[in-house]
Amino acid sequence: MTATLTDFHPLAESVQPVFDTVLARSPHEPEFQQAVHEVLGTIAPVLEKHPEYVEAGILDRVVEPERQIMFRVPWVDDAGRLQVNRGYRIQFSSVLGPYKGGLRFHPSVNLSIIKFLGFEQIFKNALTGQGIGGAKGGSDFDPHGRSEAEVMRFCQSFMSELYRHLGEHTDVPAGDIGVGGREIGYLFGAYRKITNRHESGMFTGKGTGWGGAEVRTEATGYGAVFFAQEMLAVRGDSFEGKRVGISGSGNVAIYAIQKATQLGATAVTASDSSGYVVDDAGIDLELLRQIKEVERGRIVEYANRRASARFVEGGSVWDVPVDIAVPSATQNELSLADAESLIGNGVLAVSEGANMPCVPDAVAAFQRAGVLFAPGKAANAGGVATSALEMSQNASRQRWTFGDSENKLREIMSDIHRAAFDAAEKYDVGGDYVAGANIAAFQRVAAAMLAQGVI
Ligand code: GLU
Repeated sequence: MTATLTDFHPLAESVQPVFDTVLARSPHEPEFQQAVHEVLGTIAPVLEKHPEYVEAGILDRVVEPERQIMFRVPWVDDAGRLQVNRGYRIQFSSVLGPYKGGLRFHPSVNLSIIKFLGFEQIFKNALTGQGIGGAKGGSDFDPHGRSEAEVMRFCQSFMSELYRHLGEHTDVPAGDIGVGGREIGYLFGAYRKITNRHESGMFTGKGTGWGGAEVRTEATGYGAVFFAQEMLAVRGDSFEGKRVGISGSGNVAIYAIQKATQLGATAVTASDSSGYVVDDAGIDLELLRQIKEVERGRIVEYANRRASARFVEGGSVWDVPVDIAVPSATQNELSLADAESLIGNGVLAVSEGANMPCVPDAVAAFQRAGVLFAPGKAANAGGVATSALEMSQNASRQRWTFGDSENKLREIMSDIHRAAFDAAEKYDVGGDYVAGANIAAFQRVAAAMLAQGVI
């Protein structure tokens, strides 16, 4: 689904020319335009306070990727047929550290989607405060329905080009939709073979037996829940006894369900592209993991095997009444009508587990209704923050325990919440976490760009 640009955070005159250039240069990239619009719509007050940023053309530069790599990925399927996919790596900004961001394998992947993700990643990574730049990559390859051997051959072909652009001090990919532990294993193996280097720090999300960090798998979902916990705490509230609605059934959704449940809530939904399940008894995590991670099956299977659950084909998971929503499927999955249903059902907080899952009109509706709303670049930053912890452990050849890593993640999410909250207060948009997160992140990126000169 493509969202239309709206008057949510309308552009100030000072930033309009930058947006016009983006439209002229990238006319067929609606998701990228949407992500840029959202940032530009909130940072004009920072430019007013810092005319030196305007002088140095910080905005004109930050919306243009440092480097864009697109490449052919040829491979042979099990039937002996030649297949060709397209590979991408958008190295958006290395001003705060090596390029960092995941790889997405999904048939919907195109330049617009990878650019929007790469752009978001600059600011998300800045919010973590951990010295990582912004990038994203992937391919329109669809791992679903492919054999293990096909996935491996694809990963090897993909890496036979991408390897030359990577390195622990250059660019460090990780997973995203369609790229989990299995794919990361094949990609890392191919890199090691081609370069003759076991360079642990060039990839994150690795298996814990070969350089991966504890909690990396859980981090994005846990982090989105920790962020919501922080927002609720400001209002003296918590997860205890709440009904939580979660979309998706991948890595982010599964661990958001787990953490919400551990905090005393009941997570009642999960979904995939075929529909959603509602389980008033609370999602049985082991069953969901068995179906999604082990069998790689469809969500309907969950309802088939669980008496308390029902499957709804198509429809919207956001019709289910919940107190807290954690959209964790994909971009622009939650429409204005969905936001209105959630608001009508009394939702208190929305924390974006996915990247940009709510369309701008939906975000505006939540904010107008006084619903606590956490944008993905703050709420789902726990994943990439834990990737940075993995890089630290790789560099120092240390291994931290699960407990230590989870505590560190909780602390980072609390710091991100504080940074976004304080920035919003400081710029008189108190409670607007979209503006707060953008302002806090932009200031870090802009200050570093200014210090490092026109480059
Ligand atoms: N793809 C994840 C994200 O959207 C993780 C990136 C990483 O760990 O590098 O932030």
